[in-house]
Amino acid sequence: MSNKSYIVGFPRIGEQRELKKSLEDFWAQKCTFDDVKKVAGELKSRHWEYQKKAGIDFISSNDFSLYDTMLDTAVMLGAIPKRFQALKDEARYFAMARGNKESVAMEMTKWFNTNYHYIVPELSLEDQYRLNSEKIINEYKEAKAQGIKTKINLIGPITFLGLSKRVDRGETYALHSKILPVYEELLREISPLDDEITLQIDEPVFVKDNETKVLSLIKPTYDRLAAVSDNINIIVTTYFEHSNEATKVLVNTPVWGIGLDFLHGPKNSESLELIAKSGKKLIAGVVDGRNIWKNDIEATLGLLENIAKSVSKENIIVSSSCSLLHTPFTLKYEEKMDAEIKNWLSYAVEKLDEVSLVTKLFFEGEDKLNEEEKRALADNRKANESRRTSTRIHDAEVQKKVPDFKKLCRDGAYEERIKLQKALLGYKELATTTIGSFPQTPEVRKARKEFKNGVISKKEYEAQMKAYIDECVAFQEECGLEILVHGEPERNDMVEYFGEQLKGYGFSQNGWVQSYGSRCVKPPFIYGDISRPKPMTVDWITYAQSRTEKPMKGMLTGPVTILNWSFVRDDKPRDEVSKQIAVALSDEIDDLQNAGIKIIQVDEAAFKEGYPLREENIGTYEEWAVRDFKIAVSSARKETQIHTHMCYSEFNDIIKTIEAMDADVISIETARSGNELLKIFKEIGYKQEVGPGVYDIHSPRVPSVEEIVKQIKLLLEVLPKEQLWINPDCGLKTRKWEEVKPSLTNMVEAVKIVRNELNR
Ligand code: GLN
Ligand code: ZN
Repeated sequence: MSNKSYIVGFPRIGEQRELKKSLEDFWAQKCTFDDVKKVAGELKSRHWEYQKKAGIDFISSNDFSLYDTMLDTAVMLGAIPKRFQALKDEARYFAMARGNKESVAMEMTKWFNTNYHYIVPELSLEDQYRLNSEKIINEYKEAKAQGIKTKINLIGPITFLGLSKRVDRGETYALHSKILPVYEELLREISPLDDEITLQIDEPVFVKDNETKVLSLIKPTYDRLAAVSDNINIIVTTYFEHSNEATKVLVNTPVWGIGLDFLHGPKNSESLELIAKSGKKLIAGVVDGRNIWKNDIEATLGLLENIAKSVSKENIIVSSSCSLLHTPFTLKYEEKMDAEIKNWLSYAVEKLDEVSLVTKLFFEGEDKLNEEEKRALADNRKANESRRTSTRIHDAEVQKKVPDFKKLCRDGAYEERIKLQKALLGYKELATTTIGSFPQTPEVRKARKEFKNGVISKKEYEAQMKAYIDECVAFQEECGLEILVHGEPERNDMVEYFGEQLKGYGFSQNGWVQSYGSRCVKPPFIYGDISRPKPMTVDWITYAQSRTEKPMKGMLTGPVTILNWSFVRDDKPRDEVSKQIAVALSDEIDDLQNAGIKIIQVDEAAFKEGYPLREENIGTYEEWAVRDFKIAVSSARKETQIHTHMCYSEFNDIIKTIEAMDADVISIETARSGNELLKIFKEIGYKQEVGPGVYDIHSPRVPSVEEIVKQIKLLLEVLPKEQLWINPDCGLKTRKWEEVKPSLTNMVEAVKIVRNELNR
């Protein structure tokens, strides 16, 4: 058996984050670029070896990158922004990614609906594109020297253009005719590398709702690329959703194969008849590259058998659903994890064996397995059986409470609530507050760490945290802020903190996933039914409230954000998991208000990034996301004021949804865009109160009083003073006190000036 198992791409950061460490050393001038190249070489070689050992037939080259593959593609095409053109080699490459003294870095943004960020290429009509195929050819040769014949990965021209931006006016797709010849030239250069070459061209942009204009580029592009050379087999790969519109066109081009994600784009099955008729290879993405659960081999075989009802078996290749870049590396280093839970998981290295085993079962059947494979299959069945039945996952109480939960929204209409709240809280127009966190100082981090590692006692830890809260309260009173916060010193991360206290949540030791460049995140994972064994924030918040006469704002993370920043169980629909979190949060809110807290903020920083890729799924998402925010706050009495915070400002598409969440106050990021983005609130007649950030917290710069006065006046041009709150753009945890103190003092001063002018 050969040419049957396939991996779209492999993580590159290294199982011990070796690449991260080497890059960061290099940037700090602690090692040379040759050292980095050496580490990179070892990683590539090790990763190829893992895949070979697992018996994977299609192993990639050029899935590796020192920073990002979109950036690599820009370099391959010679799409170098002017400000970097004088630089060379690695100096130029890393300056494009990270900026340097003279020039700001290129923009970075999220790769579809993942938490991976790519560098956004900057294109302009006057660009002269020129092929630089060095990296691609070298990597191919490196693997070959190791005895591994790889498929070459490449980001396709249509996706490249779709994700780039024009720095002059015009659209990126207008540059198609300039870019395509460079791709053709690349194909001519790789053709002589071997008798037969497999080229995987990633076109994930095909899973979005594309205009006809974009779809009309597909046929000419792939007709031309496929015509370059007979010995190159082109596979066009998509992932994260279905790409039916594109598939319809691709079957009429001479490409060799089509790669589809059947897990995150189940509708791809609608294209099976067409693919069957075309006689092309189907790279069937059936092992999840976006999650950490052990594959359910029986279910995967069922899925493959269904596919085989249309496409003949000999044309099917078994694959991961997308690059394994989006999963952690290997379970090998998870030494502390509970054995039962660990047995339910599978990271990238483990997924290789799963793809292999599924392939063998699908094509040859159980009888043909060797002893080791038989054992692996038995273990897999046992693990899945344990997941189906474990009481650590299935909590009868939650399963009864959550579907029965009937309190779907708060009591009282907004107008009635806000009147009560204003009477009770007595805040003025342009009320001042902050988003929640204050600087996470080295001392605060140290105390948390020492407590976690058992170096200091609970008592000592609490004393230190309380002392810090005291300082935060004292400072806020001193500078004259009106609605206070406790500062969040006890929180490492706004999701992890709640995950650690919710039942049904797990944590890894080494589950790092690349986020951008050398940065990795370690998302917690939801494995079971979620419940709240005991109050999570009440002690801290009531302590903080006891230190001041002013209202202390309770601080929670919302259900949608908790969900979107975790790996989520795949044995239950996301909206059910989200509802479980919402119900747990509603109990927390009730406890907070019963303890005397009058304002509670429920952060939904990741509400917008959870949006589906396809229009057709947006309605459903909005429905349950809004439902669960409302469930979370449903316990709040009319006079308890609910705030929410969102880390962006572009609300034009989703303003009606935001309004439907019915928070009494929403704080958003607007400092960098004046009042432009606030206008939509006025346009639709948004009634609730809004706190548009008046200064940008992402930079260490201290804004002057005049600047903030000007910004507040801009806001007042759009919304009346009664509807506005004044606050920074986001939480202050990444800033230093030296910046925070003068900034907030200036903010309060600016409000005083504006209020005086208004009352004159
Ligand atoms: N309350 C959080 C903080 O202030 C909110 C952070 C966020 O939305 N990203 O840090
Ligand atoms: Zn924010």
